[in-house]
Amino acid sequence: MTKKVLAVGEIRDGEFRNVSFEAVAAAKEISAGGEVVGVLLGENVSSLGNELIAYGADRVVVVDSDKLAGYTPDGYSQALQAVIDQESPEGIVLGHTAIGRDLAPKLAARLNSGLVSDATGVETAGEEFIFTRPIYSGKAFEKKVVAEGIVFATVRPNNIPALEKDESRSGDVASLDVDIKDLRTIIKDVVKNTASGVDLSEASVIVAGGRGMKGSENFTLLDELANVLGAAVGASRGACDAEYCDYALQIGQTGKVVTPDLYIAVGISGAIQHVAGMSNSKVIVAINKDPEAEIFNIADYGIVGDLFDVVPKLTEEFKNVLV
Ligand code: FAD
Repeated sequence: MTKKVLAVGEIRDGEFRNVSFEAVAAAKEISAGGEVVGVLLGENVSSLGNELIAYGADRVVVVDSDKLAGYTPDGYSQALQAVIDQESPEGIVLGHTAIGRDLAPKLAARLNSGLVSDATGVETAGEEFIFTRPIYSGKAFEKKVVAEGIVFATVRPNNIPALEKDESRSGDVASLDVDIKDLRTIIKDVVKNTASGVDLSEASVIVAGGRGMKGSENFTLLDELANVLGAAVGASRGACDAEYCDYALQIGQTGKVVTPDLYIAVGISGAIQHVAGMSNSKVIVAINKDPEAEIFNIADYGIVGDLFDVVPKLTEEFKNVLV
């Protein structure tokens, strides 16, 4: 049976986060040939609706309001609930981002619906849809089978491939007026605490530094390599605890979970709590002077050497090849 599924887009600085298109692809799979309705919540976002259609949505519902200029749990949950009330979908897919992780369980509880969080894959089998999600800090994967009822799902960035963009697709982009009231939170200002232009959780290449970097000033070595590769810079908790960098860069069990195509671990020992956040990277390169370091057990390529020799040489070589 075909289904109607909502895919909620997420906009940052006037542009879609990639996970929005991955949510559309997941919604398409769940819909089993039914209808995928893109959802856009925000202020002055209507003009972006067609992009969701180009990535596979059949039509888009927009709630455009100055009360949605920044994310608030009250505002966004009222807006999304109004879309759900209007559309009566069988599934609602969001990105497994700070917003998706807040919004999906809130509404799922309110609507007495199921929630599958942090899905890394989705497939359909007859009437059922089956989600894959990591458990035990990524050491194993479980399959969650949803047979009936409305289900919310959040999809982990960089795991479910977006459909190819097709500008020739067309569909309706309609506004829904929602009277958003009783906001208990007002966003007065947004202060970004990282300078990096590349979003860590969606980056396809990450260069991460550990305590082996020996000082915050040496993170410039990683910045230089990252610049050449178009990569984001991350870190171990060891590096964050030592105040070499901001905690916003921390990757691992208590930091961000990342799945880039390429992860370069520099001066990181490979503690289990770090590995929990990056072991699903497609290719892992480790640079460490200790040949016995745990990180080499999960690395596809290992360089045993002093990072202060190796990293500048890599940067130079990549410059020759890529720039
Ligand atoms: P270290 O273990 O000190 O390793 C530094 C590495 O650098 C060594 O392998 C060394 O050989 C190498 N090195 C040193 N100098 C050089 C050089 N010149 N050239 C090349 N290599 C060099 N950690 C996380 O990362 N993320 C988490 O989310 C996280 N959550 C945690 C949650 C809990 C509850 C607990 C208890 C711990 C958590 N940790 C986490 C901490 C984790 O256990 C480790 O302590 C931490 O990952 C170690 O960081 P590190 O590898 O940078 O440092």
